[in-house]
Amino acid sequence: MPVDPVALARLQANRLGLCYQAEAGRLGRPPVPIIDAHVHVNGPESAKIFLRVMDIFGVERVYSQTPLANAEAVRAVMGDRIRFIAVPAYGHKDMKWAMTEGFLEALPQWAERFGARCVKMWAAPRMRDYADKAGIDPADIVPLDGPWRRRVAERAIELGMMLMVHVGDPDTWFATTYADANRHAPKPRHYVGLERILDDYPVPLMAAHMGGWPENLDFLTGLLDRHSNLILDTSATKWMVRELSRYPRERLVEFFQRFSGRILFGSDIVVSDEHLAATKPESPRFGAMLAASAPDAFDLYASRYWALRMMWETEYDAESNIADPDLMMVEPDRFDALSAPRLLGRYLPADMLRTLYRDAAEHTLDSWYAR
Ligand SMILES: [Zn+2]
Repeated sequence: MPVDPVALARLQANRLGLCYQAEAGRLGRPPVPIIDAHVHVNGPESAKIFLRVMDIFGVERVYSQTPLANAEAVRAVMGDRIRFIAVPAYGHKDMKWAMTEGFLEALPQWAERFGARCVKMWAAPRMRDYADKAGIDPADIVPLDGPWRRRVAERAIELGMMLMVHVGDPDTWFATTYADANRHAPKPRHYVGLERILDDYPVPLMAAHMGGWPENLDFLTGLLDRHSNLILDTSATKWMVRELSRYPRERLVEFFQRFSGRILFGSDIVVSDEHLAATKPESPRFGAMLAASAPDAFDLYASRYWALRMMWETEYDAESNIADPDLMMVEPDRFDALSAPRLLGRYLPADMLRTLYRDAAEHTLDSWYAR
């Protein structure tokens, strides 16, 4: 295994040595132009590379959680191929302000200047660590029905927005990083606040990453049955490939059929100008860099669309093209940083594919943004 972080990153995004350009040609056009409901386009230079990736994989348009400070520059590159979802200024030096007053102040700008009609509330369990560091009472901003969460949600709804949340995290993380029950509540507890806001705010709510629980379709079935305003996106490529490849095809198809129109295609691709050059060795992020040049960034973004289209459209059955470090986290004796799970093609029926790739987004996000 390479010790050079640049070489390691390159392999992690393309452990099969594929030419993604040629692979996209082999896949051909998708049955309908794809709408990706979940990306993070963070910078204008990398956005140019991402547009090329979108073109070759047939992705027409994306809904992006872009930092407010970069939204203008990114829009100048992507034009009508991007729509914005309001996010707080993650990484701001005054995190407490950014998550509370600062977020409230930014919402009208998001709505008026950037046409955002959806606000993202990120409530992964490790929000607790950020709250501690920023000196915020976790009860205020960690649960989705905490007082500051509600203020943000209510202001956003006044401005015509729907809601989007990240709740939960992979089961692999609850088995490892979040195993300390004194610090992190067990997974089901994270859904209590979600169910309350679903009941209290009668606007559509998109729960990212298959509602945060792709490992448990039975739970998701109950959640979707209880809340008609809930929709899901299929983003977080590594997580979805690992977990959705485990189900018998009939089970997954039955779930998609039952909730047809409420499950939106998403990738969670993160597009960043930091991917265009190597991280400095003295940076704490040096060992975790994901790409270090324009060609590597192209492969990083393309790897996600290749994996997802192979999963939804084909009968592929082999190891994933993308390394999945969660395997090593759970079983360090069996796996290393380049290990990958099985990627099992689900060859969804054509009408189901059209709904997943486009119609579901048109009937939910697009129509909400058009109001
Ligand atoms: Zn995301």
